[in-house]
Amino acid sequence: MIEFDNLTPPANGERIEKENGRLVVPNYPITPVIEGDGIGRDIMKATRRVIDAAVETSYGSDRRFVWFDVFAGEIANEKYGEWLPADTFKAIDYFRVALKGPLTTPVGGGFRSLNVTLRQKLDLYACVRPVRYFQGVPAPVTHPEKMDVVIFRENTEDVYAGIEWAQGTSEAGNVIEFLRTQMDTEVRADSGIGIKPISIFGTKRLVRMAIQYAIQHNRRSVTLVHKGNIMKFTEGAFRDWGYEVASEEFPHETITEDEVYSQHNGQAPEGKVVIKDRIADSMLQQILTRTDEYDVIATPNLNGDYLSDACAAQVGGIGMAPGGNIGAEAALFEATHGTAPKYTDKDVVNPSSLILSAVMMLEHIGWQEAANLAIQGIEKTIIQKRVTYDLARLMDSATSIRTSAFASAIIENFSN
Ligand code: NAP
Repeated sequence: MIEFDNLTPPANGERIEKENGRLVVPNYPITPVIEGDGIGRDIMKATRRVIDAAVETSYGSDRRFVWFDVFAGEIANEKYGEWLPADTFKAIDYFRVALKGPLTTPVGGGFRSLNVTLRQKLDLYACVRPVRYFQGVPAPVTHPEKMDVVIFRENTEDVYAGIEWAQGTSEAGNVIEFLRTQMDTEVRADSGIGIKPISIFGTKRLVRMAIQYAIQHNRRSVTLVHKGNIMKFTEGAFRDWGYEVASEEFPHETITEDEVYSQHNGQAPEGKVVIKDRIADSMLQQILTRTDEYDVIATPNLNGDYLSDACAAQVGGIGMAPGGNIGAEAALFEATHGTAPKYTDKDVVNPSSLILSAVMMLEHIGWQEAANLAIQGIEKTIIQKRVTYDLARLMDSATSIRTSAFASAIIENFSN
């Protein structure tokens, strides 16, 4: 068993193993949980209740999560004087699948976001965001139900990699000088500098994961979203390497959009995943005007950032949007909103983003029946207009209920 500095894993569970790249999930998996700061306590309590109930209703006593509390953020800083203790990385890496509430980003002191640090240190290279509509949720478009996409956003490269130097520093000056003297390229002397790396390795592993997901879940297409018309050697290369993964590694399972038109009269053959690409600005139009033509999406970091929130807004805001950060070794599922500190311990906020992230976790480990049950519970509860304040204020004649009561209503609806 792995050794920790300050933590003791529960004795009544087992580690999720990996064989030939596939998870081997025991009946009682030890699952690290970071409760999170601010509203984290309320939404994590609600989420654990809903997920435990969904698992128990689906499998009786044959399966159960063995939650293992690990620490990050304000609680970790109070307990250990560190915002992100080594034990926390170790636990997520070792036990492979973990759940996380929102974390405060400490202000000042040159801190990077704890969330970004977790993703980068654990090499959780894909940020996966499914976006779909829940009936009854107020939305700004006429047909929000047409949205059902899963966005795979690269997490480790692009301008988000954080390779940048402030204007006026010697580092920025050195780069500008290097560009002028060695690369015959003029950049204004008073510029700040950021670097945008996009690699074959980083692109291929992301697109591979998106195509595998599309095949396993009988999805119709994978769209590569890029800005390759302008940034040819980064974004354009992302598109080219993406098509390469499809043709080299999945020749029987995929077909390009061009082939669909040139060889099949525009009708994709049964069972083939269509690989297509769109330029990012056009994609932001298309997702509004031709919503149901898009399915799985693979894209570099910054495009993915914009697109995820734009898609989520279209179906009623990011309060309902779940997320998972997935790497070769570990996966961390998390709410996509922040700590909303003014609502701390008030038992009023919407736990749906975290519950739906835990649903992704259930799907990730193959506990599909429990995942379906949790979704059914949320759907019914929203249709009954028993919702938290954020949704109630936008709906006609809805009852605003507490976070804990919303969780109870979801569980009640498992059996209705
Ligand atoms: P925020 O915590 O997401 O909250 C902004 C507003 O969004 C809230 O005041 C509330 O709006 C609404 N909201 C967020 N979560 C909600 C929920 N579950 N139910 C209902 N309404 C919800 O954003 P922020 O205030 O910009 O950030 C606060 C802290 O969170 C910062 O330290 C930031 O760094 C951190 N953060 C962490 C993560 C993460 O852990 N992944 C992500 C983003 C931000 P109303 O008051 O209008 O109802």
